[in-house]
Amino acid sequence: MEEIKNKIEQLREELRQHNYSYYVLDAPVISDFEFDQKLKQLQELEEKHPEYYDSNSPTQRVGGEVVKNFKSVDHKHRMYSLDNSYSKEDIFDWETRIQKILGEVPVEFVCELKYDGVSINLYYEDARLEKAVTRGDGFKGDDVTLNVKTIRSIPLVLKEDLLKSFEIRGEIILPLDGFEKMNKERIEMGEDPYRNPRNTASGSLKLQDSAEVAERPLDCLLYQIVGDRLPFETHFEALDFAVKAGFKVPDTRKLCKNTEEIFEFIAQWDKQRHTLPYETDGIVIKVNNLSQQEELGYTAKSPRWAIAYKFKAEQATTILREITYQVGRTGAITPVANLDPVELAGTIVKRASLHNADQIAKLDVRINDTVFVEKGGEIIPKIVGVDLSLRPVDSVPVKYITHCPDCGTKLVRKEGDAKHYCPNEFGCPKQITGKIIHFISRKAMNIDGLGVETVELLYQNKLIHNYADLYELKEFQLIPLERMAEKSAKNIIVGLEASKQIGFEKVLFALGIRYVGETVAKKLAFHYENIDNLMQASYEDLVNVDEIGEIIAQSVIDFFKNPINIEVINRLRSYGLKFAMDESVYENRTDKLKGLNFVVSGVFEKFSRNELKKSIEDNGGKVTGSISKKTSYIIAGENMGPSKKDKAEKLNIPIISEEDYIKILE
Ligand code: AMP
Ligand code: ZN
Repeated sequence: MEEIKNKIEQLREELRQHNYSYYVLDAPVISDFEFDQKLKQLQELEEKHPEYYDSNSPTQRVGGEVVKNFKSVDHKHRMYSLDNSYSKEDIFDWETRIQKILGEVPVEFVCELKYDGVSINLYYEDARLEKAVTRGDGFKGDDVTLNVKTIRSIPLVLKEDLLKSFEIRGEIILPLDGFEKMNKERIEMGEDPYRNPRNTASGSLKLQDSAEVAERPLDCLLYQIVGDRLPFETHFEALDFAVKAGFKVPDTRKLCKNTEEIFEFIAQWDKQRHTLPYETDGIVIKVNNLSQQEELGYTAKSPRWAIAYKFKAEQATTILREITYQVGRTGAITPVANLDPVELAGTIVKRASLHNADQIAKLDVRINDTVFVEKGGEIIPKIVGVDLSLRPVDSVPVKYITHCPDCGTKLVRKEGDAKHYCPNEFGCPKQITGKIIHFISRKAMNIDGLGVETVELLYQNKLIHNYADLYELKEFQLIPLERMAEKSAKNIIVGLEASKQIGFEKVLFALGIRYVGETVAKKLAFHYENIDNLMQASYEDLVNVDEIGEIIAQSVIDFFKNPINIEVINRLRSYGLKFAMDESVYENRTDKLKGLNFVVSGVFEKFSRNELKKSIEDNGGKVTGSISKKTSYIIAGENMGPSKKDKAEKLNIPIISEEDYIKILE
């Protein structure tokens, strides 16, 4: 037994090291394949030996637990804001205020970049990550520990434990390349791209399914250690410790002896920040000495010992030549400004977003106007104003289109919606091809050989009009198409044939029901087992499914109400696509626990937590995250949380052991 324990420990340690080399140092030592092999080996051992469960094992980084409501928790130490400054004068004034309080003593500063993401407070106990809490209102935030554990660059166990229990604060960011990759996939699926990395990072952190968070390329940059009696004299030393302990602290930080050096730092990064792999919106200047920091203290909102300097948003002027309109897969219209090319923040800008009709009216932008373009937090630049002194005398206000640029149908605008829509769902070419492109995309039917261009070509040649038509395609019809070799034609047919093996949950996602993304499709597929059950589900049925809200439910109902959709589904069925979950998914299922709600807490001997949950669900029971009046049983293992215990006793809910559970099953 000791041997297995050692093996597990050794694998964990190895994986921790490799994680660190890969995600913090950016210098992997072994191949991804070898890494995955080791991880798999560890997973198997842990499953066989749940007695060695460790919530901070590298296996926990893949996520899997779903949290419906994040628990609100108090911060041990308040999370303050920062005062802002915009000029040299502001910084001189700040320095003067500091010197007045501290007297005529030398003061050193640390300059850091201001990373543009979401702030996070990490609590370490006994050298292990215990809790991760969002900033919230500064006094209390949300417990997002499960999601944060999936961020590979955050150590779950410290590499060095000179200090074992402390808080460390940082910024969760989405690096630019990861952001672009996510958007590319979204566009491929015909979905609107995310607007900016910061909001996407913040949205990711609040996802309920930690497995989904694990797939997002989030990173975390640390900037402050907090504690009551820290063994450091300076902030700089504290950051050095953070580096040794395994955290990612950007080495752009710099010690500055005076304001001159601070200004040099600002000047340098005002230019160079565009070469960084992530976004920054300024710099932060901090007093280095920790006793000086303590002496300076806090105002009602922010520390006196630190100040942020905001970079000016970069602006350029250019001429607006034309407004064009894009039609999305759902019919949503987006106006786009076409500009004379101009350099902005290190890239050439030719297009800017105008969002919707209201935005155009508010700015009163006109064709041939000279406009100010800014790159704010958003990747796509926006127009922030018009230089009226340069407006041509004969310019006229923009008339927003009234009809679809693609099919000519009169546009509609629903109450409370800023966007116009083309209602011609089944006749509008862009919507038709958009839906087919979504259908074949990687996360849906994943059809090899087919891409955006081919779909458009097939549509133009009247070979397909909806995604069911794909399955009627013959090789001889494809070959005469432009740039189509015999081999690629064959590939397409083979790819389509292979897609008939794709699981029901993906088929459901591929149908392109509005608001039914990948995760929702999975939930619905598992819950309803086949399309007939789903089609018969009432609105009330649907909203009762875990995580299905009103908007999604209504959208599903609307989709199946439409006879055109039903016909297409019937055709897909006749071609042999899967419209039911495989039996094997539900093997060993019973409804012994039907109507019972369980809460699982603590660590178990015979099951891993996930196994226990699966066993409950397989037998028709429901697992929820928190105790309520509806809870039937709490299954408690070792180390059950004390707050859960209190609540259970208050509500008089029976607490049972895993043996009791097994007896109930029998
Ligand atoms: P603000 O939200 O404008 O009050 O700015 C304060 C926020 O800046 C903090 O809550 C941090 O999340 C963030 N921040 C980013 N980089 C740093 C840094 N290097 N030092 C301190 N705070 C930072
Ligand atoms: Zn249209």
